[in-house]
Amino acid sequence: MFVRVAIPIPSAKTFTYAVPETFVPVAAVGKRVVVPFGRKRMTGWIIEIPAEAVCDQTVKEILDLPDPEPLFGSEDLALYGWISRYYLYPLGMVLAEILPGGIDVKSDRWLRLAGGPAIDPSPLPAGQQQILERLASFPEGVSLRRLRRTMGKNDMYGDLRSLEATGLLVSEERVNRPAVRPKREKWIGIQAEIPVGIKLTQKQSALVTLLREKGDLPFSGLENRFREAAFLRTLEAKGIVRLREKELFRGPGPAPEIGRNGNDIILNGAQAEALDEIRARLTSGRFSPSLLHGVTGSGKTEVYLRAVDDVLRNGGGAIYLVPEIALTAQLLSRVQSRFPEREIAVIHSGIARSARYDQWKRIRSGEINLVVGARSALFAPVRNLRLIVVDEEHDPSYKQDDRLRYNARDLALVRGKAAGALVILGSATPGIQTFFRTKGGAYRLLRLPFRVDNRPLPRVEVVDMKTERDEQGRTPLLSHPLIAALGETLAQRKQTLLFLNRRGFHTFLFCPDCGHVFTCPSCDLSLTHHAAMGVLKCHHCDFTSKPPTICPACRGNHVRSQGAGTERVEEEVRKFFPEARIARMDSDTTSRKGETERILQALDRREIDILVGTQMITKGHDFPEITLVGVLAADASMNIPDFRAAERTFQLLTQVSGRGGRGDQPGRVVVQTFNPNHYAIRRAQEHDYVGFYEDELPLRRELGYPPFSRLIGLHFSSLKKEEGKKAVAEIGKRAREMAGTIAGGKADVIGPAESPLARLRGRYRWQMLLRGKESRPLHLLAEKLMEGAERNGLEIRVDVDPVHFM
Ligand code: ADP
Ligand code: ZN
Repeated sequence: MFVRVAIPIPSAKTFTYAVPETFVPVAAVGKRVVVPFGRKRMTGWIIEIPAEAVCDQTVKEILDLPDPEPLFGSEDLALYGWISRYYLYPLGMVLAEILPGGIDVKSDRWLRLAGGPAIDPSPLPAGQQQILERLASFPEGVSLRRLRRTMGKNDMYGDLRSLEATGLLVSEERVNRPAVRPKREKWIGIQAEIPVGIKLTQKQSALVTLLREKGDLPFSGLENRFREAAFLRTLEAKGIVRLREKELFRGPGPAPEIGRNGNDIILNGAQAEALDEIRARLTSGRFSPSLLHGVTGSGKTEVYLRAVDDVLRNGGGAIYLVPEIALTAQLLSRVQSRFPEREIAVIHSGIARSARYDQWKRIRSGEINLVVGARSALFAPVRNLRLIVVDEEHDPSYKQDDRLRYNARDLALVRGKAAGALVILGSATPGIQTFFRTKGGAYRLLRLPFRVDNRPLPRVEVVDMKTERDEQGRTPLLSHPLIAALGETLAQRKQTLLFLNRRGFHTFLFCPDCGHVFTCPSCDLSLTHHAAMGVLKCHHCDFTSKPPTICPACRGNHVRSQGAGTERVEEEVRKFFPEARIARMDSDTTSRKGETERILQALDRREIDILVGTQMITKGHDFPEITLVGVLAADASMNIPDFRAAERTFQLLTQVSGRGGRGDQPGRVVVQTFNPNHYAIRRAQEHDYVGFYEDELPLRRELGYPPFSRLIGLHFSSLKKEEGKKAVAEIGKRAREMAGTIAGGKADVIGPAESPLARLRGRYRWQMLLRGKESRPLHLLAEKLMEGAERNGLEIRVDVDPVHFM
């Protein structure tokens, strides 16, 4: 028997291995195998069992087949294959990305002394003597990696080879224990038929009574006196109890309770209509994507939950995607209280690997039918998948921007189509591309045009920062209207969100005498000044240094901080309102596990008056006592080099405004901007999504951007500036030639150009865009361009349907 195996290496090839007799009965597609690969052992996945024998003598045998059950089936594999081809990423690496991690086996080179008669090491060169001395302190052997570390040197190959050749040293491949394995637990139960006439001690009959009453129990649930090994063995030998091991399920744990659960809601007319339409589509069993376009607070979540309920009742499975972890906490609490009887799998990057692995297996076996999570939850092997919800479908965090650059929103449609499932995309601010597709009829448009209970949408005031000045005549952080609104809201004992779009807007250190700005030595970006920690930090490569007091350029001593981060905003608000309870939510304050939930819970309990935060606070939260939302720098997102900058700005403004006035009190929004007349700002002020769409679409058409074209981005990087630049220019030239030949004139090439972040982590960066009406010629062209182009330290990354352009 032979198997085709995909291995996580940067090559599109798959490999054939022979299956030794002992593994033949258990070999199956979707199981992992440990195989010899070059000089190493690696973990791969069986992707095919070919019917025909291979008569190639060089085929090697698999070494191990550790899984009792496959991790994926052939339908899943079809999706993985599609992903590999579409995103131009090797299948083995797709599998490594998608399947629960930490369970793969890798091998390392280990070294030990050969033993045997002692020899006199003194005639050996010093380097070899040192190695032998060091090895003597590791009688069991040591990995090459560790040896290098303890000896503090890297280049020892020559010495090692000579030592091996003279037979003083043995080197071998040893397999590492995988980081995650199933966890087992011992259980005890009473035998169905207990032999008659056996006399029991008092302790023995106490345990028998307990087991009769409670049924099978895990050891961890027994009193200590019952756990003694000898005691249990005696009972087992007498045929009274049976001991066995069960696999322990490690799940996400209970969700913290945040916010209202709304279990007793009666749907309003628009919600009922949308749900009817969804039900009709669910019963049809055909793939039918729908866009639920509902203003913020219109009750979309309620509609999703009813649809999920329907699916689960009928024995189907559902996946519910949300863009970010910050959102899952509140949603999860809502879902768990809605389906108290059900186990729900939660998948996102914050979930422990062991729990991921266990959940994966229970989803696959059909024990769990509902999966909630961030983008990677899309890959969960849900049985009989009937529904995929993509909440806040416009959110850029559905796009993964390293390794496998996929978009979970787009893949939801691909997977839904393959499974014949209903896909609901929902948003108050649908992506321009998504809304465009409802026009052509590709997606059905369902609308919730009003907030529940006819609550008004918040009133949005736009403040022109060009005319705002503080006492010193400088542009202030907080405008007069915003300060006034904060004061009123505090007086009414209501809550405020202050949103600072941090991208391109941060505290930096500069010298007012000569204008010198402190930048990162490897990224050329200005360093962020964290006053509280007393450091300067690069937010791309983590370079950190102490802020100097003297300017290195002019020796002046007036170095000071400029711009604003969330920390500065917090400080400023405190100055005006020292009595207010202020909290901050950004990547600094939420890096510790559980912090996001803690802040949201405090907000929910009204222990916070003013919450200052970044993008994190704009998402999905539903807190009725928030009546004021302040947007400090609406323009920050407008000035980034990205054709979606206006779309992003409109979405951010609308979403953050939507956090206000969700209770009985109407909401109020104050937007600070230097561009009060920009259409993205005006349309957000008017709550006019369709108006924005109609402003934006002609610009896209004119410039030839999506939805009127498709894009593939190519990102290049190199440690060497000049050589890299030359190689990239060469690729650009080839691209233009091949656009005519291979792509049949159906692709244009934009660039190559220096990336907006021209240098990152010490590497110089360029980018190029391939653009065309159809995706096929673009794929062909990209594939050809990559062939053999990665030479001389030039790295190339492909980004199909790019979302971020930094
Ligand atoms: P969206 O997802 O559109 O922002 P949600 O589903 O979170 O809106 O609903 C906003 C709030 O209104 C929630 O607290 C929810 O419980 C409540 N809600 C939803 N539907 C109704 C309804 N029909 N009647 C009363 N309250 C509702
Ligand atoms: Zn840097």
